[in-house]
Amino acid sequence: MPLLTCRLCGKIFTSAGGRTCPGCLDRLDELYPKVREYLRDNPKAALNIETLAEAMGADVRDVQALVDMGYLDRDTSRQVDSEAANRQKLAQEFEKSLKQMKDSSATRDTANNAASYGQYRYGDKNRKR
Ligand SMILES: [Zn+2]
Repeated sequence: MPLLTCRLCGKIFTSAGGRTCPGCLDRLDELYPKVREYLRDNPKAALNIETLAEAMGADVRDVQALVDMGYLDRDTSRQVDSEAANRQKLAQEFEKSLKQMKDSSATRDTANNAASYGQYRYGDKNRKR
């Protein structure tokens, strides 16, 4: 495992993948539920990392780290980014499903044509009888 410098406290540690040392991760683990709770209790507050850290009495870098690690889905600037990404994804999905609808309606049209052709033949036969 590589040795990394913790991006929060600058301590050198053996990384299992992250850029945060176990000590800081522990701190973040404790901070995370508090931040979530705060966000839940203040759903309308216009928060950014600085005001959030201040409200938590936490280090701005800790809050930033939670955001960076994807713990917090409600952060002003990043939320906008991910919302835009989500919208783009939704638009793509929508386009895809539209295309699929078109494809399947084309298939249905063919089926309908076949059915009406059959009905036509059937009706034709009835008429002859
Ligand atoms: Zn650390």
